[in-house]
Amino acid sequence: MFRTLLLATDGSENARRATATAIEIAAGLAIPSVVVVHVVGKAPSEAELVRAGLDVHALLEEEARRAAGSTLDLLDAAKVPYSLRAALGDPAGVILGIAEKEAADLLVLGSRGLGALSGLVMGSVSQKLVHLAPCPVLIVK
Ligand code: ATP
Ligand code: MG
Repeated sequence: MFRTLLLATDGSENARRATATAIEIAAGLAIPSVVVVHVVGKAPSEAELVRAGLDVHALLEEEARRAAGSTLDLLDAAKVPYSLRAALGDPAGVILGIAEKEAADLLVLGSRGLGALSGLVMGSVSQKLVHLAPCPVLIVK
């Protein structure tokens, strides 16, 4: 039974396609829980922290909403309810941890992302997750 779908997005064109596929699956299978994860790579600066009243989580969420905006807009337009997890760190490691914690039944992500190296079939995040994920992984080309 697919109960929890975890959608990883970096806001790239590939992630947009992964989102469109995740929407079809979530709607088609009436999946009750869609969790969207965006991992912020760079820690907030001191000035940003002060502005946010030292609320690191609020800053990460703000950055995730900005970076993953295209994904969230698609989900909103399709009326697919979701919850957003914003986190800081190494994308593959963090996504793996969230997949375990949320007991994800299916992980959906793009084959490539925002990385500059062309020619590779899969980026480093998708490669690591295919190897290490605790659940089925759907790589959207
Ligand atoms: P690399 O980062 O190794 O240079 P790339 O950027 O082309 O290569 P990946 O980063 O592996 O490729 O991206 C593949 C997919 O992984 C993306 O389409 C997205 O679904 C997911 N992903 C990548 N980075 C993140 C992130 N920071 N947070 C959430 N999901 C991500
Ligand atoms: Mg990348």
